[in-house]
Amino acid sequence: MRVAGVQVGGGAPIVVQSMTNTDTADIAASVAQVAALWQAGSELVRLTVNNQAAAEAIPHIRDQLAAQGMDVPLVGDFHFNGHKLLAQVPDCASALAKYRINPGNVGRGTRRDPQFAQLIEQACEHGKPVRIGVNWGSLDEQLLTELMDENSRNPDPRDAREVMREAVLQSALRSAARAEQLGLPGDAIILSCKLSGVQDLIAVYRKLADRCDYPLHLGLTEAGMGSKGIVASTAALGVLLQQGIGDTIRISLTPEPGGDRTREVLVAQEILQTMGLRSFNPLVTACPGCGRTTSTYFQELARDIQQHVRERMPAWRQQYKGVEEMQLAVMGCVVNGPGESKHADIGISLPGTGEKPVAPVFVDGIRTVTLKGDNIAVEFQQIVEDYVKENYPAKDQA
Ligand code: SF4
Repeated sequence: MRVAGVQVGGGAPIVVQSMTNTDTADIAASVAQVAALWQAGSELVRLTVNNQAAAEAIPHIRDQLAAQGMDVPLVGDFHFNGHKLLAQVPDCASALAKYRINPGNVGRGTRRDPQFAQLIEQACEHGKPVRIGVNWGSLDEQLLTELMDENSRNPDPRDAREVMREAVLQSALRSAARAEQLGLPGDAIILSCKLSGVQDLIAVYRKLADRCDYPLHLGLTEAGMGSKGIVASTAALGVLLQQGIGDTIRISLTPEPGGDRTREVLVAQEILQTMGLRSFNPLVTACPGCGRTTSTYFQELARDIQQHVRERMPAWRQQYKGVEEMQLAVMGCVVNGPGESKHADIGISLPGTGEKPVAPVFVDGIRTVTLKGDNIAVEFQQIVEDYVKENYPAKDQA
């Protein structure tokens, strides 16, 4: 499947997605946040399209980003009134690269099926792929009731949680089948089943991967704030990605008030990179420190190097091919320092407490220089700069 210029599924690299939290109708704020997410590395950006003003804003957001040289594939998130908004604002329908439909929020009772059909008709008319995104917080009640009733008639009923997982799965699969009957090509459909429990998510996606061939979007919904959200998402997605399940991912972190929305993009990239599935930024391996590193010098150097690499990366990425695969090591003492440093492209082993105040540097596994004095951080950064220039071909020569 192609979503604008981005290949999804079929063995393509796993795509990083994110979602804005601005009022979509606030064009300036939405353009700024989509731009920030895109620059952080989000390859698709989803915006809520919840009313007429939001729908009318979408083409302007797309155009303003394009005028700044950012052809960001925008995904529209529709609940309750998507069938009307897409019909009423055709410029929105055509400006979006993909629609996300939640089968539990398409319409209640007898309105559900015709409104779902109208959404799919819009996707067919505009040639857009659709993510059928089930969320257990807004599960199709009719379907859940049907499966619960069926289960209660079973002489050996399953527990209610099992039935709920099955309902999530069935909601996605039945909606996809219905969309195909309505004329949406199978290769224009991507599925997701988001739950907030790690074990629930893993169980549902394993079954989903067994029971269909559609590309799958992964994400733990309502993952939470800070380390809780990061750990829960990593635990769930790590298991699934390791089993080859998942074509796009999003990390649904709740930002701190005034916090940076781009953090969810960095976490998604770090999950993929630490698992060896994609490379986005040079990795800095740093030991945790211990009683052998009693000064803060080692922590400061590890932080400064990480920061230097992050700041330089936008320019390096433009100039040098493959630089995102560079590996650095900043180690605290002689115990593991030289060994870990030798495994990295460039490593530095700092002196621990009571050790000789010198810091051997290893480049491609060979000890090249020993730094000492007050300028170790700056000298090490220069060694990294030189390594990048010498080892990664300039893009125009690549
Ligand atoms: S490398 Fe040295 S300082 Fe770092 S954790 Fe190991 S023993 Fe401690």
